[in-house]
Amino acid sequence: MERIEEHIEELRRAIAQHEHAYYVLSSPTISDYDFDQLVKELEALEQQHPELVTPDSPTQRVGSDSTEGFVQVAHRYPMLSLGNTYSYEEVEAFYQRVEKELGGKRFTIDAELKYDGLSISLIYEQGRLTQAITRGDGTMGDDVTKNVRTIRSIPLRLQGTGWPDELEMRGEILLPFAEFDRINAARAAEGLPLFANPRNAASGTLKQLDPEVVAERRLDAYFYYVPAHPELPDSHYERLELCRSWGLKVSHAIQQCTSLEAILEFLDRWEVARHQAPVATDGVVLKVDSIAEQEELGYTAKSPRWAIAYKFAAEQAKTTLRSVDFQVGRTGAVTPVANLDAVSLSGTQVRRASLHNADFIASFDLHLGDQVFVEKGGEIIPKIVGVASEERQPGAALVLFPSHCPACGAPLHRSEGEAAYYCTNQMGCPPQQTARIEHYAGRKAADIRIGEETIALLFEHGLVKNIADLYRLSVEDLLGLPGFQQRSASRLVESIAASKERPLRALLFGLGIRFVGETVAKTLVRYYPSVDALSKASVEELTQLPDIGKVIAQSVVDFFASEDNCRFIAELHALGLALQRLPEEEPLEVKAHAEIEGKSFVISGVFTQHSREEYKQMIESLGGKNSSSISSKTDYVLAGANMGPAKLAKAEQLGITILSEKDFLELIGSAAPTPSVDEPTTAASPVEDLFPLT
Ligand code: AMP
Ligand code: ZN
Repeated sequence: MERIEEHIEELRRAIAQHEHAYYVLSSPTISDYDFDQLVKELEALEQQHPELVTPDSPTQRVGSDSTEGFVQVAHRYPMLSLGNTYSYEEVEAFYQRVEKELGGKRFTIDAELKYDGLSISLIYEQGRLTQAITRGDGTMGDDVTKNVRTIRSIPLRLQGTGWPDELEMRGEILLPFAEFDRINAARAAEGLPLFANPRNAASGTLKQLDPEVVAERRLDAYFYYVPAHPELPDSHYERLELCRSWGLKVSHAIQQCTSLEAILEFLDRWEVARHQAPVATDGVVLKVDSIAEQEELGYTAKSPRWAIAYKFAAEQAKTTLRSVDFQVGRTGAVTPVANLDAVSLSGTQVRRASLHNADFIASFDLHLGDQVFVEKGGEIIPKIVGVASEERQPGAALVLFPSHCPACGAPLHRSEGEAAYYCTNQMGCPPQQTARIEHYAGRKAADIRIGEETIALLFEHGLVKNIADLYRLSVEDLLGLPGFQQRSASRLVESIAASKERPLRALLFGLGIRFVGETVAKTLVRYYPSVDALSKASVEELTQLPDIGKVIAQSVVDFFASEDNCRFIAELHALGLALQRLPEEEPLEVKAHAEIEGKSFVISGVFTQHSREEYKQMIESLGGKNSSSISSKTDYVLAGANMGPAKLAKAEQLGITILSEKDFLELIGSAAPTPSVDEPTTAASPVEDLFPLT
């Protein structure tokens, strides 16, 4: 019995560690499959021994819809939903009902955008943000105050004057498209799973237990409603203007309408213009402006009778599946892409859609010629979301995932627990090679001025089969190719030669080692002066570095364990690439500081005087060390605002000295550089910039 108890405890510890690596550090230390196996084993044991189940077991997290770690609180005023309409007729019916019920009085309707994120209720007491609660079931929600505090566009203190002592404010938390793209690009470079759309990404982020992770993903928020507060003006529009003057972000995409025509004109305009908005919107909300009239119209059990949501035309279309391409990417992963009969979807012509992977194709039982439903959310590539299988033509051919690489014929392989199939011919598979060359030539890597088409052309003519071949190109070689003149040929050769001088971190990133994105490459270069030095590093050694987990470390070691790769690096050396750190990449000059030298620091939370990166550099330049996790070896925790509660508890438990930002700056005294000024803590973006269209 004791043995089983110990084993259960061991499993729980392992699971918790992997979860932390995945959700908090975003640097997984185990495959999804292996992780699931651990959880299953634990579940099985707990089922056999229910008396050993504890509330903090990782199994108790699964399936509960409110996130553990957040306190549930009651809303003072319920967060209602809105009646939905999909047609102008229904909008007209709403308008007429309001007109009738208000007894023919003149009235104003405010038209504003419906933001597609997560609703949030903020409470300001004496002008200070004290609570942020998610909608939950409308009556009770999660207290996510710590996470919400990290959102730069939400003021922690109201500006101006005239705010009520207790202000409650409703709005929407969103991840702007640009930020969504940035996060997904970074995740792709590090081989992490991508977020499906900005809304999912925003909700995943808000439910993070560690506010630091939330702070790194720059969420945004728009505000659109003040419940109750009889002391405020009787006009919804004026209330929002006041809120704007208090520093809350209220969009200018709002209009006071005194006729049905004006409302329909607003709908027409935004049905198109919304595609230029920086955040996702899914409709327009129409609200009776006068609060007294709102009260007159009242509420149903679920929604106000004084407001309605007009939903933009569903961004879904039905079309015919013509064929499926199996594309081979840089890593050898084979991605199925559907070719469709062109169909118009949210203002663009769609001809291709993502099919994700083999399981996805199988689950839809896809046949050529099928009528499929395509949808476009926040993501760039539309996706297939359904099949009208009852309309299938007899004799239609089943779509099969190939067993061999469509580009080079090598067998495909899928590792246990992975969704993707990979071409096994790493070195000889043409699309893998061209994609690798493209990646290497990229602006953040070797920065060679060469386009995709030119790479394809060089490849076809047998001039460039891999990255090393680029350095063998001569002007004469190029002059024999279509489209090349003396000038363009020498320019390309010069650009290739210049790339030899690129910083090591850029070239290392360009090599395309799995999980070695820009950030990881930069870290590696700080500790290893050359690719040769890095090639000798062990997993144990690499995992000592900040933010390098087992998965990344193993991937680096595997890369250099391959004979092909070693030959390739030797070739690059022979062609004149030093693959050494440049002087400007040298680690900071260390001026040992008596209090800092040899001390181990963990930085946590959000800072106001300097950025996190600046603090890390300060610590290193004074002879200290940075580490990402708290252990008995940690000397100091530099804690900003909103430090994760788990970290705080651990630091306290281990009796580690916790320094505030101020303490730290005092400690290092005159060694502190002048503060950077570009990081205000609570400033809202200028509202004029919100919707450049209006
Ligand atoms: P639904 O969830 O479809 O019932 O729509 C109601 C939700 O729309 C509200 O709970 C808000 O989260 C959201 N919403 C987005 N923009 C607005 C807005 N401008 N005014 C009111 N609600 C909005
Ligand atoms: Zn292949």
